[in-house]
Amino acid sequence: MAYNDTFNHERKRVFVKHKICRFCADSSLKIDYKDSKTLAAFTTERGKIIPRRISGNCAKHQRILALAIKRARNIALLPFTTAKIKTKQSREL
Ligand SMILES: [Zn+2]
Repeated sequence: MAYNDTFNHERKRVFVKHKICRFCADSSLKIDYKDSKTLAAFTTERGKIIPRRISGNCAKHQRILALAIKRARNIALLPFTTAKIKTKQSREL
């Protein structure tokens, strides 16, 4: 018998961010495949593109962003993947 609630997952709200497309909010922000700093903010530390439901981007800008990230990867501005998870102490990007 399940005495304790086994479905009681720890709900850590790590990804609580303001859910607004920051490219729509600020029209001066532009998505450029050469701007690796901006693009890196929308990738995980393993190099994956952060999904729209988490980043809060609109569909239009997420498409443009994904394309830009893929272009940046192809010219080695962003990683496709990383072998190890970077720790904050050992490496700063
Ligand atoms: Zn947008």
